[in-house]
Amino acid sequence: MISWIAYCPENEDKMLPATGATQEQPLPLSSKRLLLEATVEELLAWMASQGHPGYRVRQVLEWVIQRRAESFEPTSDLPLVLRQHLALEWSVFGTHVAFHGRSPDGTDKLLLECRDGQRIECVLMTEDRRRTVCISTQVGCGMGCVFCASGLKGVQRNLTAGEIVEQVLRLRNLLPPGDSVTHIVVMGMGESLANLDNLISALDRLCSAAPDLGLGLSQRRVTISTVGLPEKIRKLATLNRQYHLAVSLHAPTEELRNELVPVNEKIGLSAVLRAADFYFQTTGRQVTYEYVLLHDINDRLRDALALAERLQGRKAHVNLIPYNPVAGLPFERPQPEAIRRFVTLLRDRGVSVTVRKTKGQTIDAACGQLRRHLDNPGVSPPVPEPASPMTVDVP
Ligand code: SAH
Repeated sequence: MISWIAYCPENEDKMLPATGATQEQPLPLSSKRLLLEATVEELLAWMASQGHPGYRVRQVLEWVIQRRAESFEPTSDLPLVLRQHLALEWSVFGTHVAFHGRSPDGTDKLLLECRDGQRIECVLMTEDRRRTVCISTQVGCGMGCVFCASGLKGVQRNLTAGEIVEQVLRLRNLLPPGDSVTHIVVMGMGESLANLDNLISALDRLCSAAPDLGLGLSQRRVTISTVGLPEKIRKLATLNRQYHLAVSLHAPTEELRNELVPVNEKIGLSAVLRAADFYFQTTGRQVTYEYVLLHDINDRLRDALALAERLQGRKAHVNLIPYNPVAGLPFERPQPEAIRRFVTLLRDRGVSVTVRKTKGQTIDAACGQLRRHLDNPGVSPPVPEPASPMTVDVP
Protein backbone atom coordinates (compact mmCIF):
# COMPACT_ATOMS: atom_id res chain seq x y z
CA MET A 1 0.00 0.00 0.00
CA ILE A 2 1.50 3.31 -0.99
CA SER A 3 0.81 6.10 1.43
CA TRP A 4 0.72 9.31 -0.55
CA ILE A 5 0.79 12.38 1.57
CA ALA A 6 0.48 14.92 -1.15
CA TYR A 7 -0.20 15.49 -4.78
CA CYS A 8 1.46 18.72 -5.73
CA PRO A 9 1.20 19.93 -9.29
CA GLU A 10 2.96 23.25 -9.11
CA ASN A 11 1.94 26.07 -11.27
CA GLU A 12 4.50 28.78 -11.37
CA ASP A 13 2.87 30.20 -14.46
CA LYS A 14 0.05 31.43 -12.29
CA MET A 15 2.54 33.26 -10.12
CA LEU A 16 2.07 36.81 -11.27
CA PRO A 17 4.55 39.48 -10.31
CA ALA A 18 3.70 41.38 -7.13
CA THR A 19 1.80 44.67 -7.16
CA GLY A 20 2.95 47.25 -9.64
CA ALA A 21 3.42 44.58 -12.31
CA THR A 22 4.07 45.60 -15.84
CA GLN A 23 1.55 44.67 -18.53
CA GLU A 24 3.89 41.96 -19.81
CA GLN A 25 2.78 38.39 -19.21
CA PRO A 26 5.24 35.90 -17.77
CA LEU A 27 6.53 33.38 -20.26
CA PRO A 28 4.98 29.94 -19.95
CA LEU A 29 7.07 27.77 -17.63
CA SER A 30 8.19 25.59 -20.52
CA SER A 31 9.96 28.49 -22.24
CA LYS A 32 11.39 30.21 -19.18
CA ARG A 33 15.09 30.05 -18.56
CA LEU A 34 16.14 27.83 -15.69
CA LEU A 35 18.11 29.38 -12.87
CA LEU A 36 19.93 26.17 -11.96
CA GLU A 37 20.98 25.52 -15.55
CA ALA A 38 22.52 28.97 -16.07
CA THR A 39 26.17 29.78 -15.45
CA VAL A 40 27.06 32.70 -13.23
CA GLU A 41 28.36 34.48 -16.36
CA GLU A 42 25.00 34.04 -18.09
CA LEU A 43 23.19 35.36 -15.03
CA LEU A 44 25.54 38.34 -14.78
CA ALA A 45 24.96 39.13 -18.45
CA TRP A 46 21.20 38.95 -17.98
CA MET A 47 21.32 41.19 -14.89
CA ALA A 48 23.36 43.76 -16.82
CA SER A 49 20.97 43.61 -19.78
CA GLN A 50 18.08 44.41 -17.43
CA GLY A 51 19.99 47.24 -15.77
CA HIS A 52 20.55 45.51 -12.42
CA PRO A 53 23.90 45.41 -10.63
CA GLY A 54 25.93 42.19 -10.76
CA TYR A 55 25.79 41.48 -7.03
CA ARG A 56 22.09 40.72 -7.38
CA VAL A 57 23.06 37.40 -8.96
CA ARG A 58 24.64 36.27 -5.72
CA GLN A 59 21.61 37.45 -3.74
CA VAL A 60 19.14 35.59 -5.95
CA LEU A 61 21.17 32.38 -5.82
CA GLU A 62 21.54 32.61 -2.05
CA TRP A 63 17.78 32.82 -1.73
CA VAL A 64 17.46 29.55 -3.61
CA ILE A 65 20.45 27.68 -2.21
CA GLN A 66 20.38 28.83 1.42
CA ARG A 67 16.94 30.27 2.02
CA ARG A 68 14.94 27.66 0.15
CA ALA A 69 13.10 29.97 -2.25
CA GLU A 70 11.34 27.90 -4.91
CA SER A 71 10.05 30.93 -6.79
CA PHE A 72 10.98 34.62 -6.81
CA GLU A 73 8.03 35.62 -4.68
CA PRO A 74 9.71 35.23 -1.27
CA THR A 75 12.85 37.17 -2.24
CA SER A 76 11.58 40.11 -0.25
CA ASP A 77 14.85 42.02 0.06
CA LEU A 78 15.26 42.30 -3.71
CA PRO A 79 13.82 45.31 -5.55
CA LEU A 80 10.29 44.64 -6.74
CA VAL A 81 11.17 45.42 -10.32
CA LEU A 82 13.92 42.79 -10.28
CA ARG A 83 11.58 40.18 -8.84
CA GLN A 84 9.11 41.01 -11.58
CA HIS A 85 11.75 40.72 -14.28
CA LEU A 86 12.94 37.44 -12.87
CA ALA A 87 9.44 35.98 -12.64
CA LEU A 88 8.73 36.95 -16.24
CA GLU A 89 11.73 35.21 -17.72
CA TRP A 90 13.12 32.72 -15.24
CA SER A 91 12.07 29.73 -13.23
CA VAL A 92 13.90 28.48 -10.14
CA PHE A 93 13.12 24.82 -10.80
CA GLY A 94 12.63 23.00 -14.10
CA THR A 95 10.71 20.03 -12.72
CA HIS A 96 7.43 19.81 -10.89
CA VAL A 97 6.56 17.37 -8.14
CA ALA A 98 4.23 14.80 -9.70
CA PHE A 99 3.94 12.82 -6.47
CA HIS A 100 5.30 12.95 -2.98
CA GLY A 101 5.20 9.75 -0.95
CA ARG A 102 6.06 9.41 2.71
CA SER A 103 6.67 6.06 4.33
CA PRO A 104 5.86 5.46 8.03
CA ASP A 105 9.63 5.25 8.73
CA GLY A 106 9.89 8.90 7.67
CA THR A 107 11.37 8.29 4.22
CA ASP A 108 10.21 10.77 1.58
CA LYS A 109 10.16 9.95 -2.08
CA LEU A 110 9.59 12.48 -4.83
CA LEU A 111 8.59 11.68 -8.36
CA LEU A 112 9.70 14.70 -10.38
CA GLU A 113 8.41 15.43 -13.85
CA CYS A 114 10.97 17.11 -16.10
CA ARG A 115 10.09 19.63 -18.77
CA ASP A 116 10.07 16.97 -21.47
CA GLY A 117 7.55 14.91 -19.49
CA GLN A 118 10.14 12.35 -18.34
CA ARG A 119 9.90 11.30 -14.71
CA ILE A 120 12.69 10.73 -12.24
CA GLU A 121 12.80 9.64 -8.61
CA CYS A 122 14.71 10.81 -5.58
CA VAL A 123 14.51 9.90 -1.90
CA LEU A 124 15.21 11.53 1.48
CA MET A 125 16.06 9.21 4.38
CA THR A 126 16.32 10.34 7.97
CA GLU A 127 18.19 8.31 10.54
CA ASP A 128 19.51 9.71 13.81
CA ARG A 129 21.47 12.77 12.74
CA ARG A 130 21.86 11.66 9.14
CA ARG A 131 19.84 13.26 6.40
CA THR A 132 20.67 11.25 3.31
CA VAL A 133 19.37 12.00 -0.15
CA CYS A 134 19.43 9.39 -2.89
CA ILE A 135 19.43 10.90 -6.36
CA SER A 136 19.08 9.83 -10.00
CA THR A 137 21.46 10.59 -12.86
CA GLN A 138 19.53 9.37 -15.89
CA VAL A 139 15.97 8.83 -17.04
CA GLY A 140 15.87 5.02 -17.04
CA CYS A 141 19.08 3.02 -17.22
CA GLY A 142 20.92 1.26 -20.00
CA MET A 143 22.78 -1.32 -17.91
CA GLY A 144 19.99 -3.91 -17.85
CA CYS A 145 20.70 -5.50 -14.44
CA VAL A 146 18.09 -8.25 -14.49
CA PHE A 147 16.68 -7.64 -11.00
CA CYS A 148 16.36 -3.83 -11.22
CA ALA A 149 13.23 -1.82 -12.04
CA SER A 150 15.07 1.24 -13.41
CA GLY A 151 16.37 -0.39 -16.56
CA LEU A 152 13.27 -2.26 -17.65
CA LYS A 153 12.64 0.23 -20.45
CA GLY A 154 16.26 1.12 -21.17
CA VAL A 155 17.75 4.58 -20.90
CA GLN A 156 15.99 7.67 -22.27
CA ARG A 157 18.55 10.38 -21.55
CA ASN A 158 21.12 11.82 -19.18
CA LEU A 159 19.93 14.33 -16.60
CA THR A 160 21.41 17.80 -16.78
CA ALA A 161 23.57 19.09 -13.93
CA GLY A 162 20.69 21.42 -12.98
CA GLU A 163 18.24 18.52 -12.77
CA ILE A 164 20.65 16.67 -10.47
CA VAL A 165 21.16 19.70 -8.20
CA GLU A 166 17.40 20.29 -8.18
CA GLN A 167 16.67 16.84 -6.70
CA VAL A 168 18.90 17.62 -3.71
CA LEU A 169 17.42 21.08 -3.18
CA ARG A 170 13.84 19.85 -3.44
CA LEU A 171 14.51 17.12 -0.87
CA ARG A 172 16.43 19.51 1.40
CA ASN A 173 13.44 21.86 1.28
CA LEU A 174 11.32 19.11 2.87
CA LEU A 175 13.48 19.21 6.00
CA PRO A 176 12.57 21.44 8.94
CA PRO A 177 14.28 24.86 8.91
CA GLY A 178 17.82 24.64 10.17
CA ASP A 179 18.13 20.99 9.19
CA SER A 180 20.14 20.15 6.09
CA VAL A 181 21.36 17.30 3.96
CA THR A 182 24.32 15.48 5.53
CA HIS A 183 24.95 12.77 2.91
CA ILE A 184 24.30 12.25 -0.79
CA VAL A 185 24.16 8.79 -2.35
CA VAL A 186 24.04 8.59 -6.11
CA MET A 187 22.03 5.37 -6.11
CA GLY A 188 18.80 6.35 -7.80
CA MET A 189 17.84 5.72 -11.40
CA GLY A 190 20.56 5.48 -14.02
CA GLU A 191 24.19 4.58 -14.35
CA SER A 192 26.01 7.40 -12.59
CA LEU A 193 29.27 7.17 -14.48
CA ALA A 194 27.52 7.12 -17.86
CA ASN A 195 26.70 10.75 -17.03
CA LEU A 196 29.98 11.58 -15.33
CA ASP A 197 30.48 15.17 -16.50
CA ASN A 198 27.04 16.41 -15.49
CA LEU A 199 27.20 14.46 -12.24
CA ILE A 200 30.56 15.91 -11.19
CA SER A 201 29.49 19.40 -12.15
CA ALA A 202 26.37 19.00 -9.97
CA LEU A 203 28.19 17.41 -7.02
CA ASP A 204 31.02 19.93 -7.08
CA ARG A 205 28.44 22.64 -6.94
CA LEU A 206 26.49 21.04 -4.10
CA CYS A 207 29.71 20.54 -2.11
CA SER A 208 30.86 24.11 -2.65
CA ALA A 209 30.98 26.16 0.53
CA ALA A 210 30.15 29.38 -1.32
CA PRO A 211 26.64 30.30 -0.11
CA ASP A 212 25.45 31.19 -3.61
CA LEU A 213 26.66 27.88 -5.02
CA GLY A 214 26.23 24.97 -2.68
CA LEU A 215 25.47 23.40 0.64
CA GLY A 216 29.05 23.11 1.87
CA LEU A 217 28.83 19.33 2.05
CA SER A 218 32.09 17.41 2.39
CA GLN A 219 32.94 15.39 -0.74
CA ARG A 220 33.63 12.48 1.62
CA ARG A 221 29.95 12.36 2.44
CA VAL A 222 28.99 11.73 -1.15
CA THR A 223 28.84 8.17 -2.50
CA ILE A 224 28.78 7.49 -6.22
CA SER A 225 27.45 4.04 -7.06
CA THR A 226 28.37 2.47 -10.39
CA VAL A 227 27.80 -0.77 -12.20
CA GLY A 228 31.55 -0.61 -12.81
CA LEU A 229 32.63 1.18 -15.99
CA PRO A 230 36.44 0.85 -15.81
CA GLU A 231 37.39 3.82 -18.02
CA LYS A 232 35.04 6.14 -16.15
CA ILE A 233 36.26 4.89 -12.77
CA ARG A 234 39.82 5.71 -13.83
CA LYS A 235 38.75 9.12 -15.06
CA LEU A 236 36.96 9.84 -11.79
CA ALA A 237 40.06 8.72 -9.88
CA THR A 238 42.20 11.34 -11.62
CA LEU A 239 39.80 14.25 -11.09
CA ASN A 240 41.31 14.92 -7.68
CA ARG A 241 38.06 14.65 -5.78
CA GLN A 242 37.24 12.84 -2.54
CA TYR A 243 33.96 11.23 -3.55
CA HIS A 244 33.35 7.78 -2.15
CA LEU A 245 33.04 5.07 -4.80
CA ALA A 246 30.65 2.11 -4.51
CA VAL A 247 30.89 -0.60 -7.15
CA SER A 248 27.89 -2.86 -7.74
CA LEU A 249 29.50 -6.28 -7.88
CA HIS A 250 26.52 -8.57 -7.17
CA ALA A 251 28.41 -11.74 -8.07
CA PRO A 252 31.82 -13.25 -7.30
CA THR A 253 32.37 -14.99 -10.65
CA GLU A 254 32.30 -13.89 -14.29
CA GLU A 255 29.59 -16.45 -15.13
CA LEU A 256 27.15 -15.36 -12.45
CA ARG A 257 27.84 -11.67 -13.00
CA ASN A 258 27.21 -12.08 -16.75
CA GLU A 259 23.77 -13.41 -15.84
CA LEU A 260 22.85 -10.72 -13.33
CA VAL A 261 24.61 -7.72 -14.83
CA PRO A 262 24.59 -8.27 -18.61
CA VAL A 263 27.07 -5.44 -19.36
CA ASN A 264 29.63 -7.59 -17.56
CA GLU A 265 29.96 -9.69 -20.71
CA LYS A 266 31.69 -6.77 -22.39
CA ILE A 267 33.54 -5.49 -19.33
CA GLY A 268 34.51 -8.42 -17.14
CA LEU A 269 34.67 -8.62 -13.37
CA SER A 270 38.47 -8.59 -13.31
CA ALA A 271 38.61 -5.31 -15.23
CA VAL A 272 36.11 -3.77 -12.81
CA LEU A 273 38.20 -4.82 -9.82
CA ARG A 274 41.41 -3.53 -11.42
CA ALA A 275 39.79 -0.15 -12.01
CA ALA A 276 38.50 -0.08 -8.43
CA ASP A 277 42.03 -0.89 -7.18
CA PHE A 278 43.28 2.04 -9.25
CA TYR A 279 40.67 4.26 -7.63
CA PHE A 280 41.88 3.25 -4.17
CA GLN A 281 45.55 3.71 -5.05
CA THR A 282 44.98 7.10 -6.65
CA THR A 283 42.56 8.64 -4.16
CA GLY A 284 43.41 6.73 -0.98
CA ARG A 285 39.71 6.16 -0.55
CA GLN A 286 38.56 2.63 0.22
CA VAL A 287 36.04 1.28 -2.27
CA THR A 288 32.72 -0.25 -1.21
CA TYR A 289 31.40 -3.26 -3.10
CA GLU A 290 27.64 -3.51 -3.25
CA TYR A 291 26.14 -6.97 -3.43
CA VAL A 292 22.38 -7.41 -3.87
CA LEU A 293 21.43 -10.64 -2.12
CA LEU A 294 19.02 -12.68 -4.25
CA HIS A 295 17.47 -15.79 -2.72
CA ASP A 296 19.10 -18.98 -4.01
CA ILE A 297 20.92 -17.14 -6.78
CA ASN A 298 23.92 -15.43 -5.24
CA ASP A 299 23.32 -15.91 -1.49
CA ARG A 300 24.70 -19.44 -1.22
CA LEU A 301 27.69 -20.41 0.88
CA ARG A 302 29.78 -21.03 -2.19
CA ASP A 303 29.01 -17.49 -3.39
CA ALA A 304 30.18 -16.05 -0.08
CA LEU A 305 33.35 -18.15 -0.24
CA ALA A 306 34.07 -17.08 -3.81
CA LEU A 307 33.44 -13.45 -2.90
CA ALA A 308 35.82 -13.59 0.05
CA GLU A 309 38.43 -15.12 -2.21
CA ARG A 310 37.96 -12.45 -4.90
CA LEU A 311 38.40 -9.66 -2.40
CA GLN A 312 41.32 -11.18 -0.55
CA GLY A 313 44.26 -8.81 -0.27
CA ARG A 314 42.07 -5.80 -1.03
CA LYS A 315 41.28 -3.13 1.50
CA ALA A 316 37.60 -3.20 0.68
CA HIS A 317 34.21 -3.04 2.27
CA VAL A 318 31.17 -5.08 1.24
CA ASN A 319 27.68 -3.67 1.58
CA LEU A 320 25.09 -6.42 1.27
CA ILE A 321 21.68 -5.29 0.01
CA PRO A 322 18.84 -7.74 0.71
CA TYR A 323 16.76 -7.65 -2.46
CA ASN A 324 13.82 -5.30 -2.53
CA PRO A 325 11.26 -7.28 -4.58
CA VAL A 326 10.10 -5.77 -7.88
CA ALA A 327 6.62 -6.79 -9.04
CA GLY A 328 6.79 -8.99 -12.11
CA LEU A 329 10.42 -10.01 -11.62
CA PRO A 330 11.18 -13.52 -10.41
CA PHE A 331 13.70 -12.65 -7.68
CA GLU A 332 13.21 -12.97 -3.94
CA ARG A 333 14.79 -11.57 -0.82
CA PRO A 334 16.85 -14.17 1.06
CA GLN A 335 15.78 -15.50 4.44
CA PRO A 336 17.33 -13.63 7.40
CA GLU A 337 19.23 -16.80 8.25
CA ALA A 338 20.86 -16.89 4.80
CA ILE A 339 21.88 -13.25 5.19
CA ARG A 340 23.44 -13.97 8.59
CA ARG A 341 25.32 -16.96 7.19
CA PHE A 342 26.69 -14.87 4.36
CA VAL A 343 27.83 -12.13 6.73
CA THR A 344 29.49 -14.55 9.13
CA LEU A 345 31.38 -16.32 6.40
CA LEU A 346 32.76 -13.07 5.00
CA ARG A 347 33.69 -11.76 8.45
CA ASP A 348 35.41 -15.02 9.37
CA ARG A 349 37.59 -14.49 6.31
CA GLY A 350 38.48 -10.97 7.30
CA VAL A 351 36.18 -9.11 4.92
CA SER A 352 34.62 -5.94 6.31
CA VAL A 353 30.86 -6.21 5.72
CA THR A 354 27.60 -4.46 6.57
CA VAL A 355 24.00 -5.13 5.61
CA ARG A 356 21.94 -2.29 4.26
CA LYS A 357 18.82 -1.56 6.17
CA THR A 358 15.75 -1.37 3.99
CA LYS A 359 13.94 1.92 4.18
CA GLY A 360 10.85 3.27 2.50
CA GLN A 361 9.42 -0.01 1.28
CA THR A 362 5.85 1.25 1.40
CA ILE A 363 6.79 3.95 -1.10
CA ASP A 364 8.63 1.75 -3.63
CA ALA A 365 11.91 3.27 -2.54
CA ALA A 366 14.19 0.97 -4.54
CA CYS A 367 15.34 2.69 -7.69
CA GLY A 368 12.87 2.81 -10.54
CA GLN A 369 10.04 1.15 -8.64
CA LEU A 370 7.82 4.14 -8.00
CA ARG A 371 8.00 5.42 -11.56
CA ARG A 372 7.19 1.95 -12.86
CA HIS A 373 4.32 1.52 -10.48
CA LEU A 374 2.74 4.83 -11.46
CA ASP A 375 3.29 4.24 -15.17
CA ASN A 376 1.64 0.82 -14.84
CA PRO A 377 -1.18 1.16 -12.32
CA GLY A 378 -1.98 -2.54 -12.76
CA VAL A 379 1.38 -3.55 -11.35
CA SER A 380 0.96 -4.13 -7.66
CA PRO A 381 3.63 -2.77 -5.35
CA PRO A 382 5.79 -5.20 -3.41
CA VAL A 383 4.44 -6.37 -0.08
CA PRO A 384 6.15 -4.37 2.66
CA GLU A 385 8.29 -6.36 5.05
CA PRO A 386 9.75 -5.22 8.32
CA ALA A 387 13.14 -3.58 7.90
CA SER A 388 16.10 -5.87 8.38
CA PRO A 389 17.22 -5.92 12.02
CA MET A 390 20.80 -5.60 10.80
CA THR A 391 21.54 -1.99 10.10
CA VAL A 392 24.34 0.23 8.84
CA ASP A 393 23.90 1.85 5.53
CA VAL A 394 26.28 3.85 3.40
CA PRO A 395 29.71 4.60 4.87
N1 SAH B 1 23.81 2.21 -11.79
C1 SAH B 1 24.31 2.32 -10.44
C2 SAH B 1 23.24 2.81 -9.48
C3 SAH B 1 22.13 1.81 -9.33
S1 SAH B 1 21.10 1.85 -7.90
C4 SAH B 1 24.86 0.99 -9.99
O1 SAH B 1 24.70 0.00 -10.70
O2 SAH B 1 25.48 0.95 -8.93
C5 SAH B 1 22.11 1.44 -6.53
C6 SAH B 1 22.18 -0.03 -6.14
O3 SAH B 1 20.89 -0.61 -5.92
C7 SAH B 1 22.87 -0.89 -7.19
O4 SAH B 1 23.80 -1.73 -6.55
C8 SAH B 1 21.72 -1.67 -7.75
O5 SAH B 1 22.14 -2.87 -8.37
C9 SAH B 1 20.86 -1.89 -6.53
N2 SAH B 1 19.46 -2.28 -6.79
C10 SAH B 1 18.74 -2.07 -7.89
N3 SAH B 1 17.49 -2.59 -7.76
C11 SAH B 1 17.44 -3.15 -6.53
C12 SAH B 1 16.43 -3.85 -5.80
N4 SAH B 1 15.23 -4.06 -6.31
N5 SAH B 1 16.72 -4.27 -4.55
C13 SAH B 1 17.95 -4.04 -4.00
N6 SAH B 1 18.93 -3.38 -4.65
C14 SAH B 1 18.69 -2.94 -5.90
